[in-house]
Amino acid sequence: MERGHANGGTGSAADFIPPNASLTALRKAAATCRGCHLYKNATQTVFGEGPRHARVMFVGEQPGDAEDKAGHPFVGASGKLLDRAMEAAGLERDDAYVTNAVKHFKWAKDATGKRRIHKSPNRGEVRACVPWLEAEIARVQPEIIVALGATAGKALIGPSFSVTKQRGIEQKTAWAPSLVATIHPSAVLRAPRPIREREERAFIADLAKVARLLAHGKRERTHRRSDKLLPWSATEAPSLTSSAQTRSSRR
Ligand code: SF4
Repeated sequence: MERGHANGGTGSAADFIPPNASLTALRKAAATCRGCHLYKNATQTVFGEGPRHARVMFVGEQPGDAEDKAGHPFVGASGKLLDRAMEAAGLERDDAYVTNAVKHFKWAKDATGKRRIHKSPNRGEVRACVPWLEAEIARVQPEIIVALGATAGKALIGPSFSVTKQRGIEQKTAWAPSLVATIHPSAVLRAPRPIREREERAFIADLAKVARLLAHGKRERTHRRSDKLLPWSATEAPSLTSSAQTRSSRR
């Protein structure tokens, strides 16, 4: 039953997640999600894609303009950069599951009124949508999750997450045996030209670390929460990080 919500949704994607649903059934259910207001201005839900038992899952922020139109994640400029970086790092895109913390495109018109400009989802929108991500992780049970950027990192680790401090570091979490955070490929694309090559090399180096972790051996797929979706509080860390480490930024 739908609850009223000031933002124009029920307040949580959990209201739309069928119990014990397969990945395919989840994708179908997500198409009619009204957990927050973001569905109103987007073309369609962009659910994750990839093999059912992918060893690695990439989590970005939200679909962009190209993804919103195509209905598939990471098919625009950021996705092309991710493809190149994965190849350079020795990771197969076909072996990876790619998704986002938020499944609808949030945007605003530019000054000309002709272009749709990306707007980052706020904490309430991430909190509303994270049950889809949790359900995807529970079904795929990846050995390694790669959080791309601050929104994905905060969704998975909590509000204290800092991509500057935590990128490239393997963390043990309840989401998956390993989690590695790095910047979102769109941040590489936005970098000023003099440092863009350096940023791309650093991004590839982070993915190469993921490739080495995968090559090091199979990890036990232990998603401790399985099908039990727990409420995610935007005011508290999800308490999923068991041994987070920090270090200085490489930038
Ligand atoms: S952004 Fe997420 S919670 Fe909001 S309507 Fe879309 S799928 Fe549902």
